[in-house]
Amino acid sequence: MHEKHLRIVGAGWAGLSAAVAAVQDGWHVHLYDTAHAAGGRARSLAQHVAGRPLDNGQHVLIGAYRSTLSLMRTVGLDPDALLQRIPLNLRFADGQGLALPDLAQPWNVLAGIAQAKGWRWRDKLSLLTACWQWQRQGFVCPVHRTVEQLCAHHQLSHRVVQQLIEPLCLSALNTPVAQASALVFLRVLRDAIQGGPGSADLLMPATDLSALFPNACLAWLAARGSRIHLGQRITTADMRSPAFQPSPTQAIVLACPPGEAARLTQDAHPSWSLQAGSLSHTAITTVYLKCAAPNFQGLPHPIVALHSDVTQPAQFVFDRSALTGQPGLLACVVSASQGERDALAQQVQRQVTQQLGLTHLHIIQTVVEKKATLACTTAQIRPAAYIAPSMYACGDYVQGPYPSTLEGAVRSGQQVVTQLRHL
Ligand SMILES: Cc1cc2nc3c(=O)[nH]c(=O)nc-3n(C[C@H](O)[C@H](O)[C@H](O)COP(=O)(O)OP(=O)(O)OC[C@H]3O[C@@H](n4cnc5c(N)ncnc54)[C@H](O)[C@@H]3O)c2cc1C
Repeated sequence: MHEKHLRIVGAGWAGLSAAVAAVQDGWHVHLYDTAHAAGGRARSLAQHVAGRPLDNGQHVLIGAYRSTLSLMRTVGLDPDALLQRIPLNLRFADGQGLALPDLAQPWNVLAGIAQAKGWRWRDKLSLLTACWQWQRQGFVCPVHRTVEQLCAHHQLSHRVVQQLIEPLCLSALNTPVAQASALVFLRVLRDAIQGGPGSADLLMPATDLSALFPNACLAWLAARGSRIHLGQRITTADMRSPAFQPSPTQAIVLACPPGEAARLTQDAHPSWSLQAGSLSHTAITTVYLKCAAPNFQGLPHPIVALHSDVTQPAQFVFDRSALTGQPGLLACVVSASQGERDALAQQVQRQVTQQLGLTHLHIIQTVVEKKATLACTTAQIRPAAYIAPSMYACGDYVQGPYPSTLEGAVRSGQQVVTQLRHL
């Protein structure tokens, strides 16, 4: 019996997930990443505040991310200790909006809608009717329908769209409602609403992102004989070397972002490369603020929704003192962000000052990820995982049921290893 070698290019959450699944399937794994740390877009930065690192961007998971949670357990982590779980809460600082009580499904949804603060009966009725229709239709809709069209189709009230659907769509799909795919939106909604106990809960990292999974995953892989090559960028010349020639006993998985995967495949697999290289992305900006007001005791909840528009661009603010024990630190998230970095940071600083009534807010760091996620539009056609015999791609952009999220990346990594079984 020949040994099977798997070379994985990229140690983001997709590459790590593929590596774990491959080790479990008996592959000898060789994992490469340009960076000197694993985690890709979901990793910590070198900059520390109060003795703990900042993250490349504030992340939030939901209870329905079962593959991610199970993967964390596989590498010996306890998600219950590392993630702070709260029932879905999208309330604004003025108390308006939806929060689900800690009840079994579907009572949590029914009671949450009935008790939504600042909503009239016709708002609540429009959402209840839409939820009932979505459920009856199996949470599917025509492929080309946008979330905006979905809302119009189900006659959702303006308030429900503005205070619930828009922020939910931006945080789950990182795409504005006017372009976002209603089909993908409904799929995430279905998993959250019907996915069993706790599926709709918000799970917020209570530690930095590298400690949340990538570091422990690397240790798990190394302990099982995997070769980890951090700080090594795979080039087109490497792809031509014998080590990267796919064969029945040697497979390649490109777990790098689509632009890079396109570059590495352009000579040998031009049509796959073209598709991967022509995807469009959306940005996310995280503005870290520090509140130095002497009487600041933290926010009322670890996550608070913000009323947002063009001049008030952030949708959510996270209280890192409650989450990661970094006193006074707030992480403000601008999904689908546009505009110049410093201007954005100042707008967010003003927005948080006004809406939360805070003073002494200082901008600590602004992280702009221009290609944070794939634009989850109706027009986007995602490439398949299969590139050529014994050569595959995985990542949050590869065809799959989920938008560009940690769960999408993790599932994609696991899927690719399932496909390798058929070699
Ligand atoms: C600011 C921000 C906020 C986000 N918020 C959320 C959230 O709240 N919830 C959620 O679920 N998701 C969120 N996401 C999305 C989530 O982070 C991504 O979907 C996920 O991390 C993608 O993982 P990946 O492994 O597919 O890709 P990546 O993380 O991009 O990993 C690819 C890896 O490949 C490496 N690489 C590239 N080229 C080469 C090469 N030539 N050789 C070797 N290595 C190479 C890179 O260094 C990188 O480590 C957010 C993303 C950002 C940026």
